[in-house]
Amino acid sequence: MKLFKRVPFCQVAFSTVTLNTYFAQLVLGFFLSVSGISIAQQAAPAASSAPTTDDEMSKAILEKLQKSGDIVIRPSDLPSKPPPKAAVAANPVAKQEAKPAAKPIEHAHWSYTEGPDGPANWWRTSKDNLLCSAGKQQSPINIEGGILVDLPPLRFDYKISPLTIQDNGHTILVNYAEGSNLSLDARQYRLVQFHFHKPSEEAIDGKRADMVAHLVHQHHDGRLLVVAVLMNSSLEASQAENAAFQMILNHIPLVKKESSSPNGVMIDLNQLLPKNLAYFTFMGSLTTPPCSENVQWVVLKEAAVISKQQLDNFSRIYPNNARPLQSRSGRLIKEAR
Ligand SMILES: [Zn+2]
Repeated sequence: MKLFKRVPFCQVAFSTVTLNTYFAQLVLGFFLSVSGISIAQQAAPAASSAPTTDDEMSKAILEKLQKSGDIVIRPSDLPSKPPPKAAVAANPVAKQEAKPAAKPIEHAHWSYTEGPDGPANWWRTSKDNLLCSAGKQQSPINIEGGILVDLPPLRFDYKISPLTIQDNGHTILVNYAEGSNLSLDARQYRLVQFHFHKPSEEAIDGKRADMVAHLVHQHHDGRLLVVAVLMNSSLEASQAENAAFQMILNHIPLVKKESSSPNGVMIDLNQLLPKNLAYFTFMGSLTTPPCSENVQWVVLKEAAVISKQQLDNFSRIYPNNARPLQSRSGRLIKEAR
């Protein structure tokens, strides 16, 4: 497959610091699609009421992320700048892609199964997904050969949160209430949501864990940081059962794509964190369409332990929702020594 450099809209977003509003809209798109949340084409008011300051924009994003119904992106949420035509016309692959992308993007369907909408073809499912093929920093990767260095500590400040949970058709996803943060290297990131993959998407020295939880964080400037907590099963069920994961399994909605907030049920994500917080870190992308890049990954070296029954239960819903490993392309990996 012929590759080309970058998707124009990302080029615009990441190279233009003055387009704050546009950038924040793009970031919203990142969040909502980190686990394949659908994009709805609905009549939307003109963007005249769009927030203008960073604070307003941040608030607007959080409101979107926390509302209890289906999370959708309306056209007004999407980047309003069309990709430069010259860039598309100059590239035969992009030109070729313009035709299938003519169908409404809200119907773009992708899956983890080999075939027309499988991982190798995600880039064909929408013009917004071209990075899935053309990107140079795609995730997940096999983690090996990192440099051993002193890394700043991860400081988790997670509060308990009312449980808001959804089976979005690609994973089980939990939206987290405002007020839980991660500090790293003098930057604070807000925990927005987390979700699961089976097996783990990232591999360490070629080996994948039974599962992984991806904890998605956002800095106020829009930057994303995802913490990956690997999860391995144990046969010693009573000791190994993870309380937070069990709470989630207990409350998976019976109906897909419907968000559920069971009355009085709280979730404490601290219960999923291992004791040892040593980690690997590197740059990468979202692992689901649109495969957007510039995401910092933090993969904890120690795995959380779950029971065999918990693993089997998740497997009945999602036996395989992991993207294949992507090329590392010379990326630097740092590993806590
Ligand atoms: Zn994920």
